[in-house]
Amino acid sequence: MTMIADNLHDVRARIAAACQIAGRRAEDVALLAVSKTFGAQAVRAAFDAGQRAFGENYIQEGITKIAALAELRADLIWHCIGPIQSNKTRLVAERFDWAHTIDRLKIAERLSAQRPAGLPPLKVCIQVNIDGGPTKSGVSPADALALARAVAALPRLALRGIMTIPEPALDFEAARAVHARAKALLEQLNAAGLKLDTLSAGMSADLEAAVAAGSTMVRVGTAIFGGR
Ligand SMILES: *Cc1c(COP(=O)(O)O)cnc(C)c1O
Repeated sequence: MTMIADNLHDVRARIAAACQIAGRRAEDVALLAVSKTFGAQAVRAAFDAGQRAFGENYIQEGITKIAALAELRADLIWHCIGPIQSNKTRLVAERFDWAHTIDRLKIAERLSAQRPAGLPPLKVCIQVNIDGGPTKSGVSPADALALARAVAALPRLALRGIMTIPEPALDFEAARAVHARAKALLEQLNAAGLKLDTLSAGMSADLEAAVAAGSTMVRVGTAIFGGR
């Protein structure tokens, strides 16, 4: 498990170097460790190396891990970064701290209605299909403002920003250009009156390009936990 600590150290160094090149402060880019397919011991190893925020794609798998690490719950921040079906909204509302994949108002309304009163509002991002990629997840950039306004009005959600999963790019410059479109969209939403501080963008392969474009939260799996 010391491999995980070494990898985390390397990823933090990559983020710091990318921030330095971009003239940004390293503290302005949060690292989300994507622990999908890895067990609770891997999360604990990352925790022991100082990591606190973890991302899970598969809700049932995430819930199992959250339960296995219940004694660390107050110190961990759990992000749901996978698709959310209607029949899974209650689990997300009750167990997670963040949800990044809001692309339909109906799912947001259910999360708001089901967020327990004793917890702070669920932090959410609108998922945007920034490059028109074939995954079909995410709202189109043209529809992002209307959805963001509707989500921002829900009482038990705190809309924080947008999330993207662009198709793999050919090179650094192409990756940066796509991430820059997401950054520009975030600024448009703020110019329209929203108050968003989060651009969830960049993964193991393209985190430098995402940081160069203005990402505030990179989601890194493989480079921390190894191949899946
Ligand atoms: C798996 C996944 C990641 C992490 O991808 P890596 O290439 O392993 O860093 C980030 N975001 C989402 C939405 C994912 O599904």
